[in-house]
Amino acid sequence: MALGLELGRCRRPGAPVSSLERTRGLRWFSPTRSIGARIVTLSLGLLLVVQMASYAAIHDSLRDHVRSALPERLALGERVLHNLLAQGANTLADGAHRVAADPGFRSAVNAGNGPLIISMLAQHSSRVGATEAALFGNDFRLIHANRPRAEKELAPITARLAAAAATGGVASEVAVLAGVPHQVVLVPINSPAHIGWLMLGVPLDKHLVSQMRALSALDLTLLTRSSPAEAWAPAVTALPAAAATGLAAASWSPISAPTVAMHPGKLGGDEFGVHPVWLHANAAGQHSADEQSAVLALVSLSISDAVMLPADLQLQLLVITLIGFAVFFVGSLLTARRVAWPLARLTRAAEQLGDGDYATPMRGLMRADEIGQLAHAFEAMRCSIAEQQHQIMKLAYWDPLTHLPNRAQFRETLVAAITAAQADQRAVAVLLLNLDRFKHVNDVLGYRFGDMLLQRVAERLGQQMVRDGDLVARFGGDEFAVLLRDCDEALALTVAQRISRAFNEPLALEEHTVDMGAGIGMACWPAHGLDADGLLKHAEVAMVAAKQRADGPLMYSPSIDAASKQNLSLMTELRHAVEHSELRLFLQPKLALDTGIIAGAEALVRWQHPQRGLVPPNQFIPFAEQTGFIRVMTMWIFEEAARHWLSLFGEGMPLVLSVNLSTRDLLDQDLPKKFEALLLKHQVPAEGFCLEITESAIMDDPSRALATLNRLSALGFKLAIDDFGTGYSSLAYLKRLPVDELKIDQSFVLSMETDADNAKIVRSTIDLAHNMGLRVVAEGVETAAVWDLLRELDCDEAQGFHMGRPMPVSEFRAWSLAWMAKQPARFSAPAFMLH
Ligand code: C2E
Ligand code: CA
Ligand code: CA
Repeated sequence: MALGLELGRCRRPGAPVSSLERTRGLRWFSPTRSIGARIVTLSLGLLLVVQMASYAAIHDSLRDHVRSALPERLALGERVLHNLLAQGANTLADGAHRVAADPGFRSAVNAGNGPLIISMLAQHSSRVGATEAALFGNDFRLIHANRPRAEKELAPITARLAAAAATGGVASEVAVLAGVPHQVVLVPINSPAHIGWLMLGVPLDKHLVSQMRALSALDLTLLTRSSPAEAWAPAVTALPAAAATGLAAASWSPISAPTVAMHPGKLGGDEFGVHPVWLHANAAGQHSADEQSAVLALVSLSISDAVMLPADLQLQLLVITLIGFAVFFVGSLLTARRVAWPLARLTRAAEQLGDGDYATPMRGLMRADEIGQLAHAFEAMRCSIAEQQHQIMKLAYWDPLTHLPNRAQFRETLVAAITAAQADQRAVAVLLLNLDRFKHVNDVLGYRFGDMLLQRVAERLGQQMVRDGDLVARFGGDEFAVLLRDCDEALALTVAQRISRAFNEPLALEEHTVDMGAGIGMACWPAHGLDADGLLKHAEVAMVAAKQRADGPLMYSPSIDAASKQNLSLMTELRHAVEHSELRLFLQPKLALDTGIIAGAEALVRWQHPQRGLVPPNQFIPFAEQTGFIRVMTMWIFEEAARHWLSLFGEGMPLVLSVNLSTRDLLDQDLPKKFEALLLKHQVPAEGFCLEITESAIMDDPSRALATLNRLSALGFKLAIDDFGTGYSSLAYLKRLPVDELKIDQSFVLSMETDADNAKIVRSTIDLAHNMGLRVVAEGVETAAVWDLLRELDCDEAQGFHMGRPMPVSEFRAWSLAWMAKQPARFSAPAFMLH
């Protein structure tokens, strides 16, 4: 089959090729636009939001927890601070006792040896870890110190501590020495009598702060001021300077202590819980106004530090988060793939449909979900489009009646065949067939029979007459075409002749036997056309010419084309001829053989062409018959004959004028009516005319011809069979027709003198016709011998050049008078009834 019509693979002409190529690799994941990317981004985003929310929640609850536990924690811090200070005081007091009990020191004190005392104070104090050492008398006057000190600075401290020391307890306090907070202890010196007081002091420094931090995880800041009127200044702290200064600047009051103060925003952006501890309270825990000026300890907690998760926990959380992200990424990627992959497949399938591929079935139909349903719907759509496409292709490329390819498919195949032939230097031939008389078959036997006949012709052509690989198509109507690949002119002619012979055999269909001729035209590539359309056109020209010539298949040649072009202009010219009275009616006498009188005349048409001169009928009558224009001409001739009949009759020549009818005239149902109208118009009798019809005109469509003949005969017309002997009709058949006259064809008469066979034919025809009651006319009498012979054979009338050629009517008049004068017998006219 030339054109693949199995479903699909039929690319729409002009369809873009690119989209299929674009999707050769399926894109279900594009980082920017795909659903897959959106699913992955969405789920990772969601995970991030959830993670952040839970982190924030943890942070908040931690902060709340820290805040609510703050007072308790800071109170605990205060206790820790007191313990640390108490421990320090005890250790320092132990050292002081040891120094005070040292015999060398006592004796030095007793001896009042100043330099020795100072040196021993320095020695012993550093041994027990003190930085300050001083000796007081019983009256608390400063005697010596390890470094120069103002009594004014130390005396108040000593006085405060003396009471506690007197009771034998540890007398200690936090005091500011040279602006630095110190832990100070005072012990008595007994030898054995009480001889004075020893005071030792240690600065409270970073060591205390770090101890505090280690034990309580709280920060310690020591603030000092020299008088209550002054502002507090940080002396020792572990906090950043900004935070420490910020804390110092707050208003601290011993009455409100212990309190928790929050200072968000002010302290370097951090928030603190602070608990103030007034450090140099005396044993009773009371403070005097000036004492308040000494040292304030702030136990503090940075909320953000407290809330901060430990580093290893943070690392764990980070690892868990990362694992979570990885799991989510993979999971969402799989989900996205499950959703997006089938969608990408559907997209590709849609693009394939767009590219005209309706054959590839949709995969991925096994899913029960919505995507599966979509795929099913898609597949149903593809099938339906494929089916529609199939139908469209069928309508577009196949002839529904014969199931042969149609003209469009033939043309496309021819284009392809020519392209292929170009490649391997081979010839291609096209045969065009047009059935003869098919229209008549349709008219007479009906369209159903016509269709069956076409189907049978298609079968014959397709199955028997061409080789494999050739293509038979129906172009519509009764026109068929054959494409012969690798076929030169000689082979094309052989094939065409084979087809022609087959068509000449009658075709039996149902109870009818039909004579099925065909005109066949041929054209070969590359000799007769370089492309498909040119080749088809020339094959058609050849076919039309073949039909006209009726002489078997015809190969195209430029001369045919010229002739056909001539024909076209001939048509126009003929019309012009009728309309502008270029036609002439000639009369040829018909003479009674026995008496020699003028029995009638045959009307023969001539064309007085302005350029070509007098054109004989065989140059335009066949063409007029083929084109149907003969009907117009017949009317003109008949009317002309009627006019002349009347004028001749008026001149005393009542002749029977013979007028020729052709096949087309006989098939014209209205012909009798039209003739009748002309008879009435010119007031002439039907009996004054004989209508000549050839056998073949009758045999083309016998039943219809018979109907017309009956009606003409009923009107009173005489009827003659023209050119008798050239057709195949038998006299027995002709007997059924309302015929009066038989005209023996001139081919028999012309040579009957010399050709015994023809003479025999003429003789037996005359006998048979007479037996059937018909008058016999011999045409083509060119010699006196033939005239005599015909007389002997008892032929009724003769027509021929021997007596008179066809001539213009005026000439005919003159000829008639001359002829009559020569004749011995009187002119006897038949009687006519005038209308
Ligand atoms: P046809 O009807 O057989 O006409 C007789 C033809 O024989 C005429 O040729 C005539 O000139 C010719 N003829 C007559 N006697 C002789 C003879 O002794 N020897 C020879 N060799 N020929 C003779 P024409 O006029 O050239 O017509 C040729 C054909 O053209 C006619 O054959 C007829 O078939 C057709 N024709 C002519 N005029 C008409 C017409 O008006 N209508 C139709 N339908 N056909 C016409
Ligand atoms: Ca005739
Ligand atoms: Ca004739």
